[in-house]
Amino acid sequence: MGDENLNDLISDFARFYILTILYEAPAHGYSILRKFKARVGRTISPGIVYPFLQKLEERGLITHHVTSVGEKERKVYALTDEGRELCNRLFKRFARLVATAIEPSLDVCANCGCKLYEGGYTEVIGGVKMTFCCIHCAQSYKRERGMRHDAPTSSMNGVGGAK
Ligand SMILES: [Zn+2]
Repeated sequence: MGDENLNDLISDFARFYILTILYEAPAHGYSILRKFKARVGRTISPGIVYPFLQKLEERGLITHHVTSVGEKERKVYALTDEGRELCNRLFKRFARLVATAIEPSLDVCANCGCKLYEGGYTEVIGGVKMTFCCIHCAQSYKRERGMRHDAPTSSMNGVGGAK
C-alpha cells in the first residue's frame, strides 16, 4: 500500500500549504486551488481542500463569508485569531525543523564557537572576513591575538557611573 502512504504525505503537505495561503490573505476555495497549482506546480484535489476547510471551520480555526461573483456565490475563508495562532505555532516548529536540518552548514562564532542561526557580526581582520556572534566576541578575538582594537574604552559606560 505504498501509494496510500505517498497520498497521505501529499495531502499532509497540501493541508500545510493551504494554511500558508490562508495565512497570507482570505481566499475562496477556487483561489486556493489556483494558488496551489501556480506555486507548487501540481493540481490539488478539491477532495482534499474542501473537507479540510470544513474541518478547520468546525474547529473554529477559520470562518467564511459569502460573496457573489456574477451569478455564483462563493465562500471566502479567513483564519480566525485562533487559526492564526495555530499557524504561528506550526510555522515556528517548521522553521526550527529546517534550521536543525541545515545545522552543519551554519556559521559559528570565530571567538566563542556558538552557532549563528541568523546574521551575526562580521568584521574584516587581517584582510579576512570573520564572523562573530557579537561585537564583544570580535573585540576579545583581537585582544587575545594582540591585535589593535580601536574600540573606545567605554565598555564600562553606564556601570557605576557617578550620579
Ligand atoms: Zn561569540
